[in-house]
Amino acid sequence: MSVFHDQVEIEDFEFDEETQCFYFPCPCGDRFTISKEDLENGEEVATCPSCSLIVKVIYDQELFLSGEVVEAPPTEVKVALAQS
Ligand SMILES: [Zn+2]
Repeated sequence: MSVFHDQVEIEDFEFDEETQCFYFPCPCGDRFTISKEDLENGEEVATCPSCSLIVKVIYDQELFLSGEVVEAPPTEVKVALAQS
């Protein structure tokens, strides 16, 4: 089996809403990638498409199983727009 290059917490990954994937910079210049779906399936290995390095993703799977992504929760509530 391969050896993990590193262990990275999911908070240190960058989430791309378009691709629904998490990214983390790889030493080779590319990025480690793991999709949100992978995380929901319990996958914890992020791979780099340009080299053979892999990292272990540290995350709480329950957060993903609940369907909630810990990403900027909407806290703003708009009220009383029309006041004249
Ligand atoms: Zn790489």
